[in-house]
Amino acid sequence: MLLVLNVRMSAQDRDTSLRQALSLLETRNEVCIEFEVPGPGLPEHLSGILSIDAVKGNSVRAYANPQQFREFLTLDLPFRVIPPVIRPVPETKSLAAWESYPSYSEYLDMMQAFETSHPNLCRLVKAGKSVGNRDILFVKISDHVEEKEAEPVVLYSSTMHGNETVGYVLMLRLIDTLLTGYGHDPQVTALVDSLEIWINPLANPDGTYYNSPSGEITNPRRYNDNDFDLNRNFPDPRVGENPGGPYQEETLAMMAFMDTLKACLSANFHEGAEVVNYPWDTWYPSVKVHPDQLWFQSIGHEYADTVHLYGPEGYMNPSWSDNGITNGAEWYSITGGRQDYVTYFLHGREVTIELSNTKFPDPATLPLYWEYNRRSLLNYLEQAYFGVHGFVTDAFTGDPVAAQITIPGHDSLGSHVFSDSLNGFYVRLLPEDSWDMVFTAGGYEPVEIPVQVWNRQQTRLDVRMVPVQSPSPPDSTFFFGLVENPPRGALRFEYHIGKGGIYRFILYTLTGRPVQMVGEVFLENGEGDLEFPLPPDMTGMYVMVVSGPEGNFSMKIFLK
Ligand SMILES: [Zn+2]
Repeated sequence: MLLVLNVRMSAQDRDTSLRQALSLLETRNEVCIEFEVPGPGLPEHLSGILSIDAVKGNSVRAYANPQQFREFLTLDLPFRVIPPVIRPVPETKSLAAWESYPSYSEYLDMMQAFETSHPNLCRLVKAGKSVGNRDILFVKISDHVEEKEAEPVVLYSSTMHGNETVGYVLMLRLIDTLLTGYGHDPQVTALVDSLEIWINPLANPDGTYYNSPSGEITNPRRYNDNDFDLNRNFPDPRVGENPGGPYQEETLAMMAFMDTLKACLSANFHEGAEVVNYPWDTWYPSVKVHPDQLWFQSIGHEYADTVHLYGPEGYMNPSWSDNGITNGAEWYSITGGRQDYVTYFLHGREVTIELSNTKFPDPATLPLYWEYNRRSLLNYLEQAYFGVHGFVTDAFTGDPVAAQITIPGHDSLGSHVFSDSLNGFYVRLLPEDSWDMVFTAGGYEPVEIPVQVWNRQQTRLDVRMVPVQSPSPPDSTFFFGLVENPPRGALRFEYHIGKGGIYRFILYTLTGRPVQMVGEVFLENGEGDLEFPLPPDMTGMYVMVVSGPEGNFSMKIFLK
């Protein structure tokens, strides 16, 4: 017995619960328990000890590995054990009808077959290995799948908790729907054409195929092979690194992969409840809310409302929720969750979607969950169409600029976004309102632009950024300078050029729009002065760009 017990067991049911728990911990290093807490709400220290799975009123359901259970016992709280669901290996399976769970090898074959049968739309990517050496797989679905296009990147990922298997099969079915529906179903075609869609059906393969010599799912568990909860294993914006123990292989692979993806929108599928859970999980809403909480609530409602139209009475609408959605911490607070990691550290927007009260349900019910959720699963991806989209480029070269895009007075807690360094493309998802967006990048003048956002519409905003005054290297012979700034009476320049030729002097706005040709002159190489009349009726800050055989030279200029 690896557990040291120092609890008094007065009641017989307590004795029974303890024996059940210890037996499960011995055979599978994981136990699910239910217990009552004194007041409503979850005492903070409990989520540091156990992996909380659900909270309803005073009742808490949680998972524990041996170490966590040992700590829980010191609290001396009565509990009962929820036995794990075990299903025998099915004699016949109907994968084609989506009412069976695939074996691990069937899963690998399906993922490969998606790519093989739709090579123009689908690419299979291995993001890494689990602790137990199983593959962590993603498919990318997009038209021109081999190219990096300027499209919003969206990500679905399921089953970080190995015994939450509904989302696993729903993700496989969604992949199939996107691939086979392309060219036939207008909504699917539009999604594949205009988005870069990534789907990871199984984030914790070791948990799902736990204790399975046959390779079938018969005895899944929540944790990975090292007995860690992967959804408590990410850096946390409030408590910092490693709140749930050392980073696991699965977490490291997921972090590295998501960091390169830079999805603007994502979701993470679970079971044990039926609700859409939006950030933050770590901060109570009385302490901090996401600046775009209104937007999170609206997309959460869109998901749940559509489910309510097609699901049975009460599905995804628990009484304690707001019509099927909840703030994460308002339900119960966790640390180290992926949703907060993505939303805070990767500047993404991730929600946690709980698909079923029952974990590892009878596979015959899987088509029902698909029917309840399939429209919402497609519609949720469409959210990436909306908000503000555009390109940030260098005003003179047209090269992409990796800019930070911030809404002053609104953004905080990682809610700002960045444009892509490869193509300058950015997406900022926002609720309907008028916003002031500020674009900043090293070496460029900041740009502030007002923009109007409407619900379910895309606002296009391209931004050309003007370089700040070109730095003049010490040994450079290429230099233009204003003799006085702001200039009085005339624009007077001194210069030093290494190449003679035609030089053009053009004024640009700070947003990169050329507004006034000031002059065009032939200059001999060497030093000199020159003068132009002040442009009439122009006041404010501009950028003067001098272009000639030696390149562009820019400087900020203030006209009174
Ligand atoms: Zn879960």
